[in-house]
Amino acid sequence: MERLIYMNRKIALLTKHNKGKVIKPILEKETGCSLIVETRFDTDKLGTFSREIKRPKSQMDTARIKISKGMKLLKTDIAIASEGSFGSHPFVPIPWNVELVLLYDKKEDMEICGVYEGAETNFSHLKTNSFNDALIFSEKIGFPEHYLILRPDNEYSKTIIKDIDSSYKLKDAFSFCMSKSREGTVFLETDMRAHANPTRMNNIEKATQDLISKLLSFCPDCGAPGFIVNEKIKGLPCELCGLPSEMNLKYIRKCYKCKFTKEQLHPDGKFAPAQHCNYCNP
Ligand SMILES: [Zn+2]
Ligand SMILES: [Zn+2]
Repeated sequence: MERLIYMNRKIALLTKHNKGKVIKPILEKETGCSLIVETRFDTDKLGTFSREIKRPKSQMDTARIKISKGMKLLKTDIAIASEGSFGSHPFVPIPWNVELVLLYDKKEDMEICGVYEGAETNFSHLKTNSFNDALIFSEKIGFPEHYLILRPDNEYSKTIIKDIDSSYKLKDAFSFCMSKSREGTVFLETDMRAHANPTRMNNIEKATQDLISKLLSFCPDCGAPGFIVNEKIKGLPCELCGLPSEMNLKYIRKCYKCKFTKEQLHPDGKFAPAQHCNYCNP
């Protein structure tokens, strides 16, 4: 039987960049809530991808700030926030996007986070003096559906042109930045704001789906939502020598409400391949 866990509850979402577009339909359908989008607060004050304002807090803490502001402005006891980050993959030099969609239910004191992590992003930049190279770059990143941001000189210039979403705006912005440039170069970069970047919007939707599937896993004992893995215990024995490896031996799920716990042994198989063993493959 399907259960709409947030039937008749209002959930606040603070966003300036139209994230409600992907979050609202699936969250309302799967949980029965009504999602109220709040645009009065300028979320750019908490940090911008284009570096005019540094994000002082971690990705998770920034999402928490948005949640508490959203609940305050809309007078709800539950809120949701989305926060993204872009950079390089921790080990491989490829662009990497981490999207969090965090939900906090104040009434239940329950926090649960949906995550997307992956290389599906157009995150990139180019410094050039050639308009032709700029055009090639723009095609590569999926312009004009994906917007561009331009600056004269380099990534640190105080002069910044956003909302470039057509070829004539790109041409104008490029000439303007060239005329302002001391180095004779223009710095182009992908706009990572959700409304300006359909690829990112897609990833926010995936993180929302992850949140929903976590919410809709219920405690077998008391039926509370959000019965998810919250501890991973390492030490899966190596297939050759049997010593504990860095791989997961078991997962532990714990109910936030009744504290019921459940172990899942061998989530990734019974033995660790020898390449993960510190003894066989140091
Ligand atoms: Zn429970
Ligand atoms: Zn071994």
